[in-house]
Amino acid sequence: MVYITGVIVSEFRYCKLTREWTLFAPERLKRPKDLDNKREKYLGEIIHEKCPFDMGKEEFTPNEITRVSQDGKWKCRVVPNLYNALSVDIPSVSNKDSYFEKHSGFGAHEVVIETPNHDKQIWEYDYNDLINYFTILQERAINLKKDDRLEYLSIFKNQGEAAGASMSHSHSQIMALPFLPKKISDEIEYKKSYFEKHQRALLDDLVYEEINHEKNIIAQNSEFVLYCPYASQFAFEAKIVSKKRLSSLIEFNKSDLSALCDITKEYFSKFYTTLGEVSFNMIINNAPYKEYNYKTRDYYRFNIEIKPRIFKQAGFEQGSNMNINVILPETATKIYKEDR
Ligand SMILES: [Zn+2]
Repeated sequence: MVYITGVIVSEFRYCKLTREWTLFAPERLKRPKDLDNKREKYLGEIIHEKCPFDMGKEEFTPNEITRVSQDGKWKCRVVPNLYNALSVDIPSVSNKDSYFEKHSGFGAHEVVIETPNHDKQIWEYDYNDLINYFTILQERAINLKKDDRLEYLSIFKNQGEAAGASMSHSHSQIMALPFLPKKISDEIEYKKSYFEKHQRALLDDLVYEEINHEKNIIAQNSEFVLYCPYASQFAFEAKIVSKKRLSSLIEFNKSDLSALCDITKEYFSKFYTTLGEVSFNMIINNAPYKEYNYKTRDYYRFNIEIKPRIFKQAGFEQGSNMNINVILPETATKIYKEDR
């Protein structure tokens, strides 16, 4: 373990059996919670006064990394995660030769406070809220890339207790790792070999087929398509994919960001009218920093996955890594598109 002034920070440990890494982060146990099962609503109200993400409580989230302001007031902030699983202040070291392989908990772990408004959720965001959000994510994606020890960027949002959120105030997280998780390196290899064989990006071909298939398309604009994937793992799972050969937020210009906000706003409006305040995970997938160059756009496509947590996963999914989904994507699409 890596210690800073006597505190255990974190470390990655490699499992020879699964060839997967696990990040051990004991500090995460200390993080505050205002979401707790059935008491979610009650605790949310009680804790509101103490919420460190509110306007006027900035002293509880020190060392701000960046903010978007309007009329002298902040609209969106990025701060270091106080209960971080990773730290950029420790050396990036590994012991590859040891039987028990490990890597120090080097990396970035940041919180994006999406709005100063404690009660505003993503389905209530207007266009400006979303522009602020994606602009600040883009800025962080660009700046973290400057540290060439970082190979992988993970941007995600856990909404609601069933999705793993501990705070009800709307926020996302950014993590940057010194290596690619196995799932990602396998995916990159697969996408590269697909491109070598077909001279096309795998996700471009999948989107092309989904558009021809029609049944799973919820909406599209000139730059993005929104659909429920043919083999969705979760009920009402949705995906937003770039149609413009963009592989990362880093490459987005103003009109790309604007089109992304439009389709995200449209999706969450449908999400709320269809599902209500359901927990979900949102994963914003960008091409990894590792080996990122002008060729990355050939095989990797920027996309956002939204996975509602309506039904619980159990032993079968854990053991087989195969999900059971009770809602067909064509049914989910139809319900999303119904006028209410
Ligand atoms: Zn709050």
